[in-house]
Amino acid sequence: MMSGTELARAIVDQAAHRAADYEKHTGRKPCLATVIVGDDPASVTYVRMKRNRCHRAGLDSRLVSLPEETTTEQLVAAITELSNDPEVHGILLQHPVPKHVDERAAFEAIAPDKDVDGVTMHSFAQMSFGEAGFTSCTPGGIMRLLDAYDVDPRGKHAVVIGRSPILGKPVAMLLLARDATVTICHSKTENLPDVVRTADIVVAAVGKPEFVRGDWIKPGAVVIDAGYNEGNVGDVAFDEAVGKASLITPVPGGVGPTTIAVLLEQTVDSAQRQLAAL
Ligand code: NAP
Repeated sequence: MMSGTELARAIVDQAAHRAADYEKHTGRKPCLATVIVGDDPASVTYVRMKRNRCHRAGLDSRLVSLPEETTTEQLVAAITELSNDPEVHGILLQHPVPKHVDERAAFEAIAPDKDVDGVTMHSFAQMSFGEAGFTSCTPGGIMRLLDAYDVDPRGKHAVVIGRSPILGKPVAMLLLARDATVTICHSKTENLPDVVRTADIVVAAVGKPEFVRGDWIKPGAVVIDAGYNEGNVGDVAFDEAVGKASLITPVPGGVGPTTIAVLLEQTVDSAQRQLAAL
């Protein structure tokens, strides 16, 4: 079992230590601004969790809560203001935004040096080229889990199921940068179970409960379940896969906690980088 809870605790402890150090030197705390549009209950819960974790780790958090009817222009303006605010070190736009809003335009209003959630095209390019920068938080958490459990992706066949801009695509790029041979699957992929059966590392990022079945898993494969569905259910049929995998992430307590930990860590990184640039 790969415990994300334990790993996240270690990452957050380190970030908290560095945040305290930053405060000692500057009299300010690293500050994460969170932007939420509308009142989708899951998003409201995620934002509350992220803000609580910030406070517990000694970071400031600023909440910008905008109504459902906010236009793309208004959202871009609110994010641009945060991008220009020297008191703000990191910006997180809670995904998803209402359908009428151009999410990509809103993400791109985040200044690259405050993109602690790793959602801009700039960050994606840095990830893809293996350059230093911010990683998308869930993919970053997945790579930390692999490292913590001594899984070296080099030469391994990694099959990523899902190609979203915040999860499937960036985790595929990070695995490629670590010399895995990567196959990215999606809703049009043919013979998906057979493709997954060839994987040494499976990353499930589909958004469908228990979608990946146990008989798709090659014996000894490493199974990373990034899914999070209603009722604390992952994208992998855990009870079936656990007997086949050499290592597997549980849901909850696997990938989820590492996502927030990486977010806090990158907010502290950002504060320190901005200080060093002065
Ligand atoms: P998303 O944007 O809905 O993307 C889902 C992906 O799955 C798409 O690329 C889609 O393919 C693919 N897909 C859908 N049906 C499929 C099928 N039958 N066969 C193969 N592929 C299929 O979702 P997301 O935002 O990436 O999230 C994925 C999961 O991760 C969700 O359960 C979400 O809750 C979870 N998540 C967890 C965290 C965390 O912190 N742990 C963070 C973010 C997301 P197409 O591109 O062809 O449509």
